[in-house]
Amino acid sequence: MVWEEEEAYRLSCLLCTAPTLHNTNPDELLWCADSSKLFSVSSVYKWSESSLGNVIPVAASIWNNFAPPKVQFFGWLAWLGKVKTSSFLHRIGILIGNANLVCVFCHIEVESVEHIMLNCPFVWLLWSNIIHWWGLQWVIPGSVHGLLEWWSGCVMQKLEKKIRMAIPLATLWTTWKHRNDCVFNGSQPNLEALCELVKVRVAMWFKASKLQVDFSINDLAFNLPQVKYCIRNGG
Ligand SMILES: [Zn+2]
Repeated sequence: MVWEEEEAYRLSCLLCTAPTLHNTNPDELLWCADSSKLFSVSSVYKWSESSLGNVIPVAASIWNNFAPPKVQFFGWLAWLGKVKTSSFLHRIGILIGNANLVCVFCHIEVESVEHIMLNCPFVWLLWSNIIHWWGLQWVIPGSVHGLLEWWSGCVMQKLEKKIRMAIPLATLWTTWKHRNDCVFNGSQPNLEALCELVKVRVAMWFKASKLQVDFSINDLAFNLPQVKYCIRNGG
């Protein structure tokens, strides 16, 4: 299987970084991530931070917002590329033979995580609407990681950031729910309803959070520029 070959390749890469063996030296345990060769929690943290690069801010942005835990978990799966798309199920041998792997929205391309979450023309229109709603312009990133990194990268006020980081998760989650509805219940793709659902979802999560906000769900979903203005100016 292709995925097993990928895992075997990753293992061989990992083993390449192992210390060289010498027949004449006795075996001993060494912690190579620290110059003292002694294990400590802080050295593990420093090592993971340096080896993972910008992954940690993205991971933090997935978990540190007011989206419900199941949505955060889904965002984390999407970030890791582990969503159970048709191509994923085909790759691990669950969908076999001439199973239909084509995207249910555009009926053109095979359904991969990147396609169904970002690159599908239908989903691209959804993202464009949501980005415009938040008052931004963008060039579509090539991956879910790029997307989440872009969303979490902007410096802004804490409250505004909490709303902002729930938006990509709401969009990913709502897209996937809509995809399931089309695949399993025969629903038709509906862009307008989908755009509205993402906005209302973000507004409802915000209202349900511990943050005390005076804005209504209607204000948050359909009058966002004014709400953001009030937040920035302490209103
Ligand atoms: Zn598509």
